[in-house]
Amino acid sequence: MSDDWKPRTAAVHGGSRRSQYGELSEAIFLTQGFVYDSAEAAEARFIEAGRDEFIYARYGNPTVAMFEDRIAALEGAEDAFATASGMAAVSGALMAMLKAGDHVVASRALFGSCLYVLEEVLTRYGVEVSFVDGTDLGQWAAAIRPGTRAVFFESVSNPTLEVIDIKAVSELAHKVGAIVLVDNVFATPVFSRAIAQGADVVIYSATKHIDGQGRTLGGVILGTRAFIRKVVEPYMKHTGGAMSPFTAWVMLKGLETMSLRVNAQADAALAIARALEGHPRLARVIYPGLPSHPQHALSAAQTAKAGTVVAIDLEGGQAAAFRFLNALKIGKISNNLGDAKTILTHPATTTHQRLPQDQKDALGITPGLVRLSVGLEDPDDLLADIRQGLERA
Ligand SMILES: *Cc1c(COP(=O)(O)O)cnc(C)c1O
Repeated sequence: MSDDWKPRTAAVHGGSRRSQYGELSEAIFLTQGFVYDSAEAAEARFIEAGRDEFIYARYGNPTVAMFEDRIAALEGAEDAFATASGMAAVSGALMAMLKAGDHVVASRALFGSCLYVLEEVLTRYGVEVSFVDGTDLGQWAAAIRPGTRAVFFESVSNPTLEVIDIKAVSELAHKVGAIVLVDNVFATPVFSRAIAQGADVVIYSATKHIDGQGRTLGGVILGTRAFIRKVVEPYMKHTGGAMSPFTAWVMLKGLETMSLRVNAQADAALAIARALEGHPRLARVIYPGLPSHPQHALSAAQTAKAGTVVAIDLEGGQAAAFRFLNALKIGKISNNLGDAKTILTHPATTTHQRLPQDQKDALGITPGLVRLSVGLEDPDDLLADIRQGLERA
């Protein structure tokens, strides 16, 4: 692998390993185990396995290693560990590094399952978690204290697209020696520079833009070699959240086309957000790429483009939102994002249904809010579909 490859080259060739057959496309090593030449060789490998010496697919596998090395090269991270889902990555990274008595500071605007891990799971094991409004640096500064062990946030929050200042929060965290973990799904690996901006650990749900075609669940934890191999790997390999070789192969193929897909989706998202802003049926159009977004300048400084998700808030609340969704002909009602197919979600009644009303209010999850994950269809067709849906709202 070459260190001076640009991301698009790394996304196509990074991490490649070829068998004796010299196959062009990556092989799927669909094997649980590996055979040793001798009993002594087996013993030696259990004492210390090199990066290309495998023991058992829960510990590592050649196809999975290709995916890990490819995404690490792309992200500019020293190393990566692939997991069975995005949540296996989030929970694994946190559980691997924390112990009872540790203090964590997290932003409140989180994906529901991330909130569950921080609020319900970690606290059960004696970890203290403080939640802050992630856009308010004063709240971060007040909550991070000597002894704070970790800081966790989504760089762009779901579903209301608040942008958190990675550089500023990392500076506050590093002053007390805390590790900064960033769930970077909405920023995407294509537009992220999170490690250069101060993040120690970057986490992706590979289910989203990395697969990009809605097939497989996966996740990845990226960080320093020491953190990945000495902290994450021992925890993950013994607790069982490994990525399957088949999934790793889907994700490798996804990485090859990710830049083209995500750039097209982000360009379409910006065009759609611009076209919809000011529409009489909409109370708000939320997209970090619009100058009206409260963190527009931060978004432009932090990521190359503002992402593939737009949030719109319909006048007329839930009834209008439902009429709009039910009228769509191209956009699909579902709850994933980052897919080639445009997906629309009503967070208040689905992904964030569990939240009490006061928390929905605090997070801006209004009854009229619809999250729009822009796909790869022709943007003119999408806009026409959205406009006719709004007419019927
Ligand atoms: C989807 C998502 C996750 C969880 O990923 P899964 O692959 O579904 O487990 C975590 N964080 C964010 C921000 C997400 O969008």
